[in-house]
Amino acid sequence: MTTRQPRTWSGSNRTGQTQVNFIENVGRRVVRVSRVEQITPRYRRVFLAGPDRDAGFPYVRLAPTDHVKVLFPQPSGEVVMPRRTKEGWVSPEGAAEPVFRDYTVRGWLPETGELVIDFVVHGHGVGSAWAAAAKPGDQLGVMGPRGNIVFPENYSFYLMAGDESALPAMGRFAEELPETASARVVVEVADAAERQKLTDRPDVEVTWVLRDHAGAGGLERAVRQVLPPDGDDWFVFAAGEAGALRPIRDYFRRELGLPKERVVVDGYWKRGIANLDHHAIDLDAD
Ligand SMILES: Cc1cc2nc3c(=O)[nH]c(=O)nc-3n(C[C@H](O)[C@H](O)[C@H](O)COP(=O)(O)OP(=O)(O)OC[C@H]3O[C@@H](n4cnc5c(N)ncnc54)[C@H](O)[C@@H]3O)c2cc1C
Repeated sequence: MTTRQPRTWSGSNRTGQTQVNFIENVGRRVVRVSRVEQITPRYRRVFLAGPDRDAGFPYVRLAPTDHVKVLFPQPSGEVVMPRRTKEGWVSPEGAAEPVFRDYTVRGWLPETGELVIDFVVHGHGVGSAWAAAAKPGDQLGVMGPRGNIVFPENYSFYLMAGDESALPAMGRFAEELPETASARVVVEVADAAERQKLTDRPDVEVTWVLRDHAGAGGLERAVRQVLPPDGDDWFVFAAGEAGALRPIRDYFRRELGLPKERVVVDGYWKRGIANLDHHAIDLDAD
């Protein structure tokens, strides 16, 4: 477990481009659930506290895609930190294979030393099952983030789109935008009960797409209805199920002709695939 304060990015990013800053000493923490908030029937906010609270956390404003690898406990309930080898991550002898998933850093509370992670309880998989049952005292391993990906803050309009898995990233992005900017957030959720408050800001307008009514392609159709401002003073962030994002990415990049630096699209999960490696499906490759 690291006790050194990781070097983090600081300062604003007015380059017009997303800025990537790698962290030298990637954190490896064993943390415990301190409290859980049930935000909607299928969305739980988990607060995690660790013994190395004074070491801080590399939380950076306007880095909404910063994420950690969450390591789930062994069948005993204990977290056993694996070692990095040429063959990948290996658990000590006698321990089960390590099980990791990617989760957004939703928040960091320096006064209590709590890391905040929002989990979608979608009903399949280790992460969803762990989150559904999470209670104070439960252990988790947290590795990362490997860097801070700082979004540009010099645009006057931001368009965000995604499903539940992208709500943590879109929520923090919407909260942290400069006061001079406005935003439109299009969110696809299972049904009306899954809507939640993203921010109090009056200049951030949220549109909910309800999957049980809209059906397949609902997110793309809703995104196409957003009228962005004339000119090039706007930026797009979209994340969620990889298959649903492909046409959204094509709409902005091919149909509207937006340059790469103004469109960030990331597949956070893929239907039918467990533990998707989001680097393996680069939706933004061309
Ligand atoms: C950078 C990044 C940040 C992310 N941030 C978050 C976050 O903050 N909160 C969050 O909840 N998720 C987040 N995700 C998505 C999360 O990593 C995946 O949803 C992951 O698959 C969940 O693991 P699991 O063990 O629950 O399901 P898995 O074991 O990986 O998958 C089991 C089955 O469930 C399906 N499935 C996976 N995710 C979903 C879903 N969301 N809805 C419906 N079906 C699904 C899979 O297709 C598969 O068929 C993020 C992903 C990335 C790449």
